[in-house]
Amino acid sequence: MSEHKKLTTASGIPYYYHEDTLSAGPRGPLLLQDFILHEKMAHFNRERIPERVVHAKGSGAYGTFTVTNDITKYTRAKLFNRAGKQTRVFMRFSTVGGERGSADTERDPRGFAMKFYTEDGNWDLVGNNTPIFFIKDPKKFDDFIHTQKRDPHTHCKSPAMMWDFWSLNPESLHQVMFLMSDRGTPYSYRHMHGFGSHTFSFINADNKRHWVKFHFKTAQGIKNFTNDEAVKMKGEDPDWAQRDLVTAIAKGDFPKWYVKVQIMTEDQAKIYKWNPFDLTKVWPHKDFPLMDVGVIELNENPQNYFAEVEQAAFAPAHVVDGISYSPDKMLQGRILSYPDAHRYRLGSNYEQIPVNRCPFAVNNYQRDGMMRVDGNSGSAPNYFPNSFDSIKPDEGYKQPSWVLDSNVADWYSRNAEGENDHYTQPGIFYREVLSDYDKKNLVNNIVGAMKGIEGPKRDEIINRQLCHFFRADIGLGMAIAQGLGADMSSLQQHMPAKHEAVTI
Ligand code: NDP
Repeated sequence: MSEHKKLTTASGIPYYYHEDTLSAGPRGPLLLQDFILHEKMAHFNRERIPERVVHAKGSGAYGTFTVTNDITKYTRAKLFNRAGKQTRVFMRFSTVGGERGSADTERDPRGFAMKFYTEDGNWDLVGNNTPIFFIKDPKKFDDFIHTQKRDPHTHCKSPAMMWDFWSLNPESLHQVMFLMSDRGTPYSYRHMHGFGSHTFSFINADNKRHWVKFHFKTAQGIKNFTNDEAVKMKGEDPDWAQRDLVTAIAKGDFPKWYVKVQIMTEDQAKIYKWNPFDLTKVWPHKDFPLMDVGVIELNENPQNYFAEVEQAAFAPAHVVDGISYSPDKMLQGRILSYPDAHRYRLGSNYEQIPVNRCPFAVNNYQRDGMMRVDGNSGSAPNYFPNSFDSIKPDEGYKQPSWVLDSNVADWYSRNAEGENDHYTQPGIFYREVLSDYDKKNLVNNIVGAMKGIEGPKRDEIINRQLCHFFRADIGLGMAIAQGLGADMSSLQQHMPAKHEAVTI
């Protein structure tokens, strides 16, 4: 007879009655003393933790980052220090606006979050499948996300809210065009690019700083759903992207991304025509060519979704020596907000959860807190400096000083003169990057989405947004206006006096 495991309570007490509750008579009331019933119900009632306020629905996997090219003249980060070097990674992909059970093929940006378990600690690069974003000041993030969630009155998604916000925030146009193209409905997480999106810095062995953008090009090739296909898939298999990723990895068809960087010197940044720290802009490739760095392969499915994917916590604050921040205002805001969100959702000791834990040395004086489960550093001293342990801050990790351009503190307008070219890059995107097929789908997708705008402000919102499309490209504006059956004479009234695209 094979030996079986005994069924136990959470405290390890073997028990027998798992399905029938203690009751007074076979048809009588239950007795309070059957604590197994309480334990089962009470734990079940507490199974849900707060879902992420954004990026709630996601999929994750482990893999390997392998260096293929030498970039040590730009960064001393140890994970890049020799060709062939491998670092374990965990990646999580997600949609943004939907809830934890929402459909994977929603039109939405996709999160592209990476955790590199380096010997110098965990480096989290928390990007998207787009190189840009809707806003460039983090103070606007909560307002923006509210428009992507549910109307507080109807509790339905509201095209009026979305387009009202976008039309009142012209800096969003570039990302709106990415979102409305077919890349807003990727076929699967395997078939999309990833971007670190923000500008970061690389620090080399001589303490010299370069600005850097990270790109992750899918080796599977770009593949998108059309709008109709994406809508159909929402009904057929809302978990399509999760199933696609788990199935591919389980059968050994490991997805890969080529890791590339763009580099800008500090001097180039001072005179570049666009603000290199503005998250609504890209750095054009011809000015800042892509350089090869390495390859990421995902090759291991998590064993347990909740433990490893739901509890995975990424923070742009977590950079390792050789990689640092930039004055990108959105990055600066995220440095604070991500660890704050994890402390709320997972608790102050979230970095002890195995998927988040650094597999190398963690030595510090943080102690106690809810759910401290790692032994709490035992009997070691809990203060610094002390005369007992051998932990010392290592001078090798000093950062170079940073000379700022201005020491005047003010609430600078994010769209002041010199920062207000919202139209040149979207225009280039439309005219030079999109094929005729892409253009047609972009226009149809925008028209379809804007047709959903309802309510007393409908015409005002549509006309205001049309002006932005016109400013990016007259042909694009015309095509969308015609698709919406817009009244061109009333549109004229809403067209701002200065309606040419701003050229620099
Ligand atoms: P390039 O002509 O050198 O590159 C065009 C970029 O656009 C490529 O990265 C390409 O990615 C990507 N692309 C192609 N089709 C689409 C699409 N339907 N949706 C989104 N991206 C697409 O151009 P520049 O670097 O001079 O940039 C021109 C414009 O291209 C920018 O204004 C921006 O809108 C867009 N873009 C630029 C990126 C950058 O980092 N410079 C990145 C992505 C887009 P691929 O061919 O690999 O699929």
